[in-house]
Amino acid sequence: MFKALVLNQEEKKTIAGIQQVDESQLPEGDVLIDVDYSSLNYKDGLAITGKGKIVRQFPMVPGIDLTGTVSESSDSRYQAGDKVVLTGWGVGEGHWGGMAEKARLKADWLVPLPSGLNGKQAMMVGTAGLTAMLCVQALVDAGVKPEAGEILVTGASGGVGSVAVTLLAQMGYQVAAVTGRIEENGELLKQLGAARVIERSVFEEPARPLEKQVWAGAVDTVGSKVLAKVLAQMDYNSAVAACGLAGGFDLPTTVMPFILRNVRLQGVDSVACPFEKRQQAWQRLTELLPTSYYEQACREVNLEGVAECAEAITNGQITGRVVIKL
Ligand code: NDP
Repeated sequence: MFKALVLNQEEKKTIAGIQQVDESQLPEGDVLIDVDYSSLNYKDGLAITGKGKIVRQFPMVPGIDLTGTVSESSDSRYQAGDKVVLTGWGVGEGHWGGMAEKARLKADWLVPLPSGLNGKQAMMVGTAGLTAMLCVQALVDAGVKPEAGEILVTGASGGVGSVAVTLLAQMGYQVAAVTGRIEENGELLKQLGAARVIERSVFEEPARPLEKQVWAGAVDTVGSKVLAKVLAQMDYNSAVAACGLAGGFDLPTTVMPFILRNVRLQGVDSVACPFEKRQQAWQRLTELLPTSYYEQACREVNLEGVAECAEAITNGQITGRVVIKL
């Protein structure tokens, strides 16, 4: 038996409770893992509170991220004792996830824990950090260079945003961070590497089709009218990496930035990111994130503390990353 956070549905309401679960209840998979840490992402918040249709069947163990030690494996790539990381692949949505002391997963979904990173640090990165790295890589692939000008990051005090600010600053980019919590988090964002911090309300004003060109690149975690405003202010031949919908999934924009300013909008998905790209991103994250990131922008809770944090993340009240100790 082992301890797990289990989601059930009663009268269309999601109920989260900590339970003792038998190993035989775990879903099929070729690798059994003793979980050390999971993490809390926006998507986990939606799943646990039931505010978003994330969970595909009940009962479900949430947790789209986990790190731990292999205890049994029928796949030649992994042996007992190996340290591994899992993010995405529908785990915590359609397959039992990381908020339990044990998980059984497909070997194809795993990445060996990069050397230079411990399990807790890997979860401080988690899906949010991996997504931030993929967004930054998308800007690099689009040819956006540090000397081109300022890079904007929206939703900057969240999980994806705070890692994106840190990574870009470490790579020598000049970062402008957009936040709705300037008083609370402005100083932290500067410590992470933002050269300036901008109030979110500026980006919530209706956008004209084209506005003054300001940004050489952007990482957007918010979507909706904020992304529309960002697009209208992009430099000629610049690129935006869009990964999130914290402000809404609509996009009230025009074709003008694309057809008159050669702006590129690159979507970023981390859930089904192929193994090679995923492993490279983890390696790069390990190299780039300074020790100070893990000290400044992360906190730890146990399973008992998850429900409260889940509510907070869906209300945009979490700063940085939350890791869950199993
Ligand atoms: P967080 O909740 O940690 O961060 C989101 C941030 O967005 C908040 O901290 C807040 O930042 C800002 N925000 C919140 N609500 C609003 C609002 N109504 N309008 C404008 N800004 C808002 O979430 P994550 O960092 O984990 O995820 C960010 C987004 O990226 C989510 O939409 C998530 O679903 C998506 N995502 C996508 C992935 C992919 O593979 N494509 C993977 C991971 C995440 P501040 O207070 O600084 O303004």
